[in-house]
Amino acid sequence: MAENEQSTTNNQQRATNNQKQLKLSGLEPLVVTSDSNFINIGERTNVTGSRRFLRLIKEENYDEALEVARAQVEGGAQIIDVNMDEGMLDGVNAMTTFLNLIAAEPDIARVPVMIDSSKWEIIEAGLKVVQGKGVVNSISLKEGEEEFIHRAKQIKRYGAAVIVMAFDEDGQADSYERRIEICKRSYDVLVETVKFPPQDIIFDPNIFPVATGMEEHRQNAVDFFRATQWIRENLPHAHVSGGVSNVSFSFRGNNTVREAMNAAFLYHGIKHGMTMGIVNPEMLEVYDEIPKDLLEYVEDVLLDRRDDATERLLDFAETVKNNGKSDEKKVLEWRSGELQERITHSLVKGVLEFIEDDAEEARQSVEKPIEVIEVFLMNGMNVVGDLFGSGKMFLPQVVKSARVMKKAVAYLLPFIEAEKTDDSRSAGKILMATVKGDVHDIGKNIVSVVLSCNNYEIVDLGVMVPPEKIIQTAKDEQVDVIGLSGLITPSLDEMVYLAKELEKLGLSIPVMIGGATTSRAHTAVKIAPEYSKTVVHVNDASRAVNVAGSLINPKLKEDYGIALRAEYDKLREGFLNRSRQKNFLSIEQARANKLSLDWDEYTPSKPDFIGVKQVEIELEDLREYLDWTPFFRSWELHGKYPAILTDKVVGEQASKLFAEATDMLNRIIDEKWLTAKGILGIFPANQVDDDDIQLYDEDGAELNKFLTLRQQSQKTKGAPNIALADFIAPKDSGKQDYMGAFCVTTGFGVDEISDQYIKDLDDYNSIMIKALADRLAEAFAEYLHEKVRKDIWGYASDEKLTNAELIKESYKGIRPAPGYPACPDHLEKKVIWEVLDVENEIGVKLTEGIAMWPASSVSGYYFAHPKSRYFGLGKIKKDQVEDYAKRRNISIEEATKWLNPNIAD
Ligand code: SAH
Repeated sequence: MAENEQSTTNNQQRATNNQKQLKLSGLEPLVVTSDSNFINIGERTNVTGSRRFLRLIKEENYDEALEVARAQVEGGAQIIDVNMDEGMLDGVNAMTTFLNLIAAEPDIARVPVMIDSSKWEIIEAGLKVVQGKGVVNSISLKEGEEEFIHRAKQIKRYGAAVIVMAFDEDGQADSYERRIEICKRSYDVLVETVKFPPQDIIFDPNIFPVATGMEEHRQNAVDFFRATQWIRENLPHAHVSGGVSNVSFSFRGNNTVREAMNAAFLYHGIKHGMTMGIVNPEMLEVYDEIPKDLLEYVEDVLLDRRDDATERLLDFAETVKNNGKSDEKKVLEWRSGELQERITHSLVKGVLEFIEDDAEEARQSVEKPIEVIEVFLMNGMNVVGDLFGSGKMFLPQVVKSARVMKKAVAYLLPFIEAEKTDDSRSAGKILMATVKGDVHDIGKNIVSVVLSCNNYEIVDLGVMVPPEKIIQTAKDEQVDVIGLSGLITPSLDEMVYLAKELEKLGLSIPVMIGGATTSRAHTAVKIAPEYSKTVVHVNDASRAVNVAGSLINPKLKEDYGIALRAEYDKLREGFLNRSRQKNFLSIEQARANKLSLDWDEYTPSKPDFIGVKQVEIELEDLREYLDWTPFFRSWELHGKYPAILTDKVVGEQASKLFAEATDMLNRIIDEKWLTAKGILGIFPANQVDDDDIQLYDEDGAELNKFLTLRQQSQKTKGAPNIALADFIAPKDSGKQDYMGAFCVTTGFGVDEISDQYIKDLDDYNSIMIKALADRLAEAFAEYLHEKVRKDIWGYASDEKLTNAELIKESYKGIRPAPGYPACPDHLEKKVIWEVLDVENEIGVKLTEGIAMWPASSVSGYYFAHPKSRYFGLGKIKKDQVEDYAKRRNISIEEATKWLNPNIAD
């Protein structure tokens, strides 16, 4: 408020305010005060907004055009906006004709008219014939102050009110500052120069769409609200209006969201002082009737409350697409189907929106609430199972189905518990665990979800589960199957151990084996012989359901067990025969056939940096290093990115998954859900004592040794028996060589986020965050390796590779990772941890099984020799195991344990 007015007394103020009310009229007056209700302006009689109205005017079907106006007034419009701006129309003529016709219809003419045009001549034509006191929509400073003043004077002469757009010579106001700057300037010119009554000024500070995906649009609604408030507080007696449905323009086609968004926008607009607006009442939900979740998402967007507000609303919008007052009949159709059909539809399509309502309806139709699960939900899940089994549905969809299932079950649970029917009739109880020392559980979780979708009760013990706990729980819970999972090779040994224990205890629970390092061969050769009951290898979720069924079904299980055993016996025989036939060299012979590089001709590249240091990076910078192919694989969608997105079979699902993954990735990055931490070291090094690599500090003092393992199988055609040590210059070559080591992680915080999703019954996203964190860790490793080559070590400073080339590893040098084929001994990770002091520096720990925790971590070595390459160690002989034990200073048993899956005899 202006200074001088602040000193007026309340009474005086009330009197002035009273004089300065906006009084419009048709045949009846319409007084707009600050505390009158919001004035809604009908928009149907607008040829730019209504195709029907345009057609009627074009056809000069004025009778029906009048009906449109009448319907609006009857529908509650307090002003009607009339617009005849169309290239093919004689706008002046149409405006004149239509307003004249309205004047003859008392039930229309009782409300004021808003003469809406961007052409001054049409406005003038309207002003000449309009009844009562209307509003001109609009003028602005767009064509300069002179024209603005001229038009304002005309309008004042005709006695109309005016809408002033926040527009000036430089264009439309698109920020809070520009809005108030232009409105203030317009106001001052109007009040001071034109002497326009301030109460007859209505500002339109531009309602622009939100949720467009563009950063610069995020504040659109907020800026409008703030500008509105500023106008009401600083430009005495002026009003604020706007075209409301523009705000929800991004959701064209989704009326549910649009209606909610328009309503929420109005609610906040009015709170900030908006007194009128152009709205389509049919496109308006009642604010209080907007479902709470939708309202939250909508308001997050309008008020710009979260960085990911748009993504979240878009996601949510998918689920509410045109339900309710939808204009898409198809959608309504499925909602009007039979109860079972609707439940099945929700499950198959992963629609969360209606499942509780439908579960409730189902509950009322059965005797015991448990029957809703056993009948309605299971029928639906059977369809999901069949579609998945026949390749018509894909894993991400099934996991979404599970989300719907869980929501329904959570809804029913209180009723089921109230009934106290503890004869739960699940298909069977399955214990799932990632074995001791191992932290990976994406695969295990996926299998659990898929099994639980199929009515199996899952007892999930999580990761790093000691064998005693697995066995105790299996007994206590009387489970039907034990599912064991593991990613790293020591986990294989854990599984063998568990099989032995089960045998010792005389248990007969069948065991399912899964996880990245597991294989049918390993299961057959190493695990199955230790347990006289059934052991089966299952590595994909789609098979898990059938396998579990066969293991549990009393009619099937015996035959299935016998058949499996026969199959595995055969497999084992074949495997052992082949490896018996394979010739192995003694470790001495193998060393004699090592890879000999020409060290005389070679000058090791001296690193620009020697020592250990931490590296930092913003997650944003890892984006371009992401390798998506393994991401799709973790969801059991097979194919190379980006071709997979357009694949005939899985393309649609892959694209959907990709879009959702990208959304979450954006949130991870924008909201800093995770942080990247890394450490690396580069050291002077030489090969010593055949297969070891001695590290030195800068002054030449000895540090740790990396122990490498050498291939022992008999080679043909003069191929060497390689060890990683062969890539480093031997001490006696007299050349100082170098090597590096690193550990990177993006895993801190992942478990917490994932657990939160689990709490929200959202396995889909709990798996998603893990899969993405893994990707970021690998991307970090890729990024760091590049930085090492080009910069930190600098041996390939002129390298220029695209991401695709990086993924193909077309660079010079390698970064082998302990646990992978060239160096399968996880024990060597301990050496990396010592030389880099990894745990103290960046917090990544090694578990008992020498898995890295958090799971989304990568570690390895750097070799720079241009001839260094990846290879597989293959099987080694006992003599090398003994040799290794001696070098490592551990017992032969200990060494055997760590090298187990690689030992030939
Ligand atoms: N772009 C992939 C990169 C990881 S897989 C992703 O994002 O998942 C490739 C990595 O595995 C290599 O960089 C190396 O660290 C390791 N690796 C592959 N083959 C290996 C082998 N034979 N011996 C040791 N490490 C190997």
